Amino acid sequence: MNRMSMINAFDPSTLEALDPSSRALIERRQRVLGPAYRLFYEDPLHLVRGDGVWLYDPQGQAYLDAYNNVASLGHAQPDVVRAIAEQSATLVTHTRYLHEGVLQLAERLLATLPSEMSHVMLTCTGSEANDLAYRLARTVTGNTGVIVTQLAYHGVTHSVAEFSPSLGQGVPLGAHVRVVPPPDAYRGETDVAGAFGRAVAAAAQDLQEAGHGLAMLIVDSIFSSDGVYADPAGFLAPAVAAARAAGGLYVADEVQPGFGRTGAAMWGFQRHQVIPDLVTMGKPMGNGYPVAALVAQAKHLERFGREARYFNTFGGNPVAAAAANAVLDVIERDALIQHAHRVGAHLITQLHDLAARHPAIGDVRGVGLFIGVDLVQDLSTRAPDRELATRLVNALRQRKILLSASGPGGNVLKIRPPLAFQIEHADLLITALDEILSSAP
Ligand code: PMP
Repeated sequence: MNRMSMINAFDPSTLEALDPSSRALIERRQRVLGPAYRLFYEDPLHLVRGDGVWLYDPQGQAYLDAYNNVASLGHAQPDVVRAIAEQSATLVTHTRYLHEGVLQLAERLLATLPSEMSHVMLTCTGSEANDLAYRLARTVTGNTGVIVTQLAYHGVTHSVAEFSPSLGQGVPLGAHVRVVPPPDAYRGETDVAGAFGRAVAAAAQDLQEAGHGLAMLIVDSIFSSDGVYADPAGFLAPAVAAARAAGGLYVADEVQPGFGRTGAAMWGFQRHQVIPDLVTMGKPMGNGYPVAALVAQAKHLERFGREARYFNTFGGNPVAAAAANAVLDVIERDALIQHAHRVGAHLITQLHDLAARHPAIGDVRGVGLFIGVDLVQDLSTRAPDRELATRLVNALRQRKILLSASGPGGNVLKIRPPLAFQIEHADLLITALDEILSSAP
């Protein structure tokens, strides 16, 4: 998320300009939730209902959601709602009793993953899954070092925040953490994959010399907060090999791209022909119900399983399992991976057409329904245009279309709609972008 498009403190004159009901909610929020929270948009949005790709404000005004990958199947998706309601009305316990639901879920998830991945551990959030991944990586390797990309986000726990550089300078990285630039830094090189791999090898060497060694390389397979990098498919392979050569594990963070969004496969790493040691997943997994997981190769759990025990009160409870099973049902029944491919391809083609007419669009990247639009001040220097991104995000909100921006320059529009997004919705977004880009600032 572009920090510019998130607001925490509203000065009195900005508050004054907002409608009285928003103002009252903002003031109450600041009073009771305190200063660490942020809001989207200069004119924050009050939402009361969702349905498919639409979100509604209290007046019934509809907003087209081009941003939310939590309600990934669509807001209030009826099959998931029913599964949650029925299971809530039947039994809510935890994983210390026998129950079919969590076993079905684990079996079904494993069926979507490479055969090397064989055990599923349930959590409630992506942060918890990444925290557990780090504990496992330390146990397996005996090392503590972590390599992440320059603007990665992996979550909120103490240990995970220490390897989440996108939290900003106020949240320092751990002494055992090294960052590598995302693939864009090697643009123009003939071998992007090799260059990325060499950066990982150098970071691992540095960790070794500092006495940390490498526990894990963790990569968001779509580089969401780094500014969305999907291509060339396969570019992760040398980096993974370099991490393993240094004794570390490779963790695929699928919290953003997982569950079919890339339109190519169920998981983002699968486009890169690599087999992870650990996979973490969350966000879209319960279509809004908090359910997340870590999947591991069996050999990595042997020692941890012997020495530690794992229990997560809510992780994998029967309602969470019912929600996640229903999500898998709908992805399969509605062929949503193919759908994401088809609508995403249309959107990317249309965005390239826009780029041909608007020099502010320096690059269009992505795959399926995970797309980054790189806004630049100048096509030759590719200097990021953060201001334009902020203007576009806010102008789209005024036109009732929701998305956001990311990347180190805060200049990459992030388009990541619910998978219920259709061609007609893509066209609404393109028309609005075209009109805003054609109008003077
Ligand atoms: N990994 C990635 C790539 C994420 O984008 C996020 C959440 N934005 C997380 C992990 C953390 O997930 P959660 O918010 O469920 O803890």
